[in-house]
Amino acid sequence: MSTTEQRVAVVTGAARGIGAATAIRLAAEGRAVAVIDLDEAACKDTVQQIQAAGGKAIAVGCDVSDEAQVEAAVARIADELGAPTVLVNNAGVLRDNLLFKMSASDWDTVMNVHLRGAFLMSKACQKHMVDAGFGRIVNLSSSSALGNRGQVNYSAAKAGLQGFTKTLAKELGKFGITANSVAPGFIVTEMTKATAERVGMGFEDFQAAAATQIPVQRVGRPDDIANAIAFFTGDAAGFVSGQVMYVAGGPLN
Ligand code: NAP
Repeated sequence: MSTTEQRVAVVTGAARGIGAATAIRLAAEGRAVAVIDLDEAACKDTVQQIQAAGGKAIAVGCDVSDEAQVEAAVARIADELGAPTVLVNNAGVLRDNLLFKMSASDWDTVMNVHLRGAFLMSKACQKHMVDAGFGRIVNLSSSSALGNRGQVNYSAAKAGLQGFTKTLAKELGKFGITANSVAPGFIVTEMTKATAERVGMGFEDFQAAAATQIPVQRVGRPDDIANAIAFFTGDAAGFVSGQVMYVAGGPLN
């Protein structure tokens, strides 16, 4: 790659929340960014913010759990922006319930978006990374990987992503590709808002209660996670691979 060529980053689930903050951050660092979400129109806001700041971005509608859609999306990104060599597997959903009430379909949905989605996206992008002799993959895990009541599906998927990350690091390292995982704690997004609703608390009270349990005494913001992802996806992080970084305002027990 010439020094003037722009690296292309793909961020899934980037219409809002952590994904949007990450897409904006990577664009500010000079990446051309493919903003992927289920609904292409919903990506408009993120794309416009990037373009307004002088960056380059396109909106791509894609269900990351659908193989044909993933292959078409990655082909379109390669065609319109160039070879995707930075991938952030961020798309996520919750289908929380206690084990005895959880349906098999809620189990499958969570596995499909988080695990199958990360698998399909990584597989589709890795051939471009191998050809380029460079790649950066970041998978969004969670503090819930350590176990969380009401999230047996989500915890299993997020723990699974850590094993997935370490194996990618071992398989792909010789091609100049690193794989790392960022595991957020409590971050203020639509996802945590939905959790507050599920447990019957106002979002402000929910955040305040969470903050008392966090060593830095505040809840996280999407930019806190985008910062960690920016480190792992940077050209300078080539010797850091197979790691899981908890970004949670303190250590987790
Ligand atoms: P969010 O606000 O709910 O955003 C997730 C985005 O992913 C949504 O725009 C959603 O689209 C999209 N998405 C869902 N299914 C998809 C699919 N099959 N294909 C493409 N896009 C899809 O969530 P967030 O809080 O920013 O979380 C981002 C990631 O961080 C997730 O992996 C989450 O598990 C992880 N995380 C979050 C927290 C937290 O405290 N917020 C903590 C730990 C880990 P729709 O709106 O159309 O569904």
